Amino acid sequence: MTNTPVRTRMAPSPTGELHVGSFSIILKNYAFAKKHGGQFVLRVEDTDKVREVEGAGERLLNTIKAYGLSWDEGPDVGGPHAPYTQSERLDLYVEKANELVESGHAYHCFCSREKLEAVREKAREEKRPPKYDRHCRNLSKEEVVKKLSENGEFVIRLAVPDNRSIVYTDLIRGDIEVNSDIIDDQVLLKSDGFPTYHLAVVVDDNDMEISHIMRGEEWLSSTPKHILLYEAFGWKPPVFAHIPIYLNPNGKGKMSKRKGDVSAQSFLDKGYLPEALLNFFMILGWTPKDQRDIISLEEYVQEFDPQDISKKSVAFDIDKLNWLNGVYIRKMWDENQVDLVTRLEKFTPTDFPQAKLDQILPLIYERLEKLSDIEELSDFFYRDIKVDRSLLLKKADKELVSKQLDELYAGLNEIEWTTSEIEKVVRSIQEEHDYKKNQFFMMVRIAVTGKKATPPLFETIEVLGKDLTLRRLKLALT
Ligand code: GLU
Repeated sequence: MTNTPVRTRMAPSPTGELHVGSFSIILKNYAFAKKHGGQFVLRVEDTDKVREVEGAGERLLNTIKAYGLSWDEGPDVGGPHAPYTQSERLDLYVEKANELVESGHAYHCFCSREKLEAVREKAREEKRPPKYDRHCRNLSKEEVVKKLSENGEFVIRLAVPDNRSIVYTDLIRGDIEVNSDIIDDQVLLKSDGFPTYHLAVVVDDNDMEISHIMRGEEWLSSTPKHILLYEAFGWKPPVFAHIPIYLNPNGKGKMSKRKGDVSAQSFLDKGYLPEALLNFFMILGWTPKDQRDIISLEEYVQEFDPQDISKKSVAFDIDKLNWLNGVYIRKMWDENQVDLVTRLEKFTPTDFPQAKLDQILPLIYERLEKLSDIEELSDFFYRDIKVDRSLLLKKADKELVSKQLDELYAGLNEIEWTTSEIEKVVRSIQEEHDYKKNQFFMMVRIAVTGKKATPPLFETIEVLGKDLTLRRLKLALT
């Protein structure tokens, strides 16, 4: 490491919801900056007005905050390099593009769309990479001045040097070398005066004194272009790390919308705890030295090293996430029940009997994988149930089950309604008649809850209450 202060950044574009892969990269940039006592910067890259989605910028920031992360500099909090939204920095990009034209590293291009398309088409026919033919790169100064005075449309392109080897070291992938001949003369400034991503990202990362760029591997092919730009400006490039993208939970193909939810917000909305998600993103493609699964944000900040990130893409292991979330829910139950109850509020359905939450929650919290599971795990306490007759009669005939239900009704009708009294009655009926345990207890469970799997039976019956239990016993076979 050099002595330059560590400054990392995330630069999302407001073109849609924040992807879980992008969120996990934010976490890495955040942790790396904190580990080195540096700053984490958030910049909104909104120069692509065609793809911009209304409100997406604000939602991105809110999602990151909902996960519990914050930034030291950014559009809402400001900072020494404000503004942090690219559309508010347009003058700077124009100035920098002109600087490159002056120094001979960029040039005006007046070619029409039709002409460019024809050039690309020809390249395709000749099975060459569809690169710009550099027609305008050779215009004389006078020709350029004349065309500019005619108010024609133009873009500014990077004059990519011929046959140059571009070399840089990636923190994850090691040394990378690319020949400049495969790089097109990139557009830097568009005809509408907006910069392209390549120009804006380099100008801003330099201006904002970013020391380390950790971003998704989809940007790998852009990096040589950026290195050329740093060189053209005479600036020192930052350190790069390109992070492998996630694969779908089945390990096949890059994680995509078609195979399920990919937005970082959707996981919060489904009732995953931000703490559990953070832990999950930490250990997905990176393992602490002692291989443990449970790790706090503070520990991660201390232990994370981008060089240890897996070079290979890893699958978005949803089973592991579910497991981790359950661990965190149970931890919260042990340490801070008030917090757990508050968070559950958002996920309890409107017909949930809030007054009974104190009785229901102890019975089901162990089986909550997500907060939103509360409905499915508790609905039989307060909604009408449907008893599947074939399940009820699976291990005994109707006559026997009907007799058992009557005995239960009579027995339970008489007692004081406590778990131990309920247990005594139900067990004594089973023992007295020597009913097969398997059949008998499963039959009771199904008759009073409609489900094969429930919390402990006697506690459940107590919480259901006498009236409801007796009514269900009576109705089970009808
Ligand atoms: N605006 C780019 C994006 O949407 C930033 C890429 C980068 O980190 O350089 O992801």
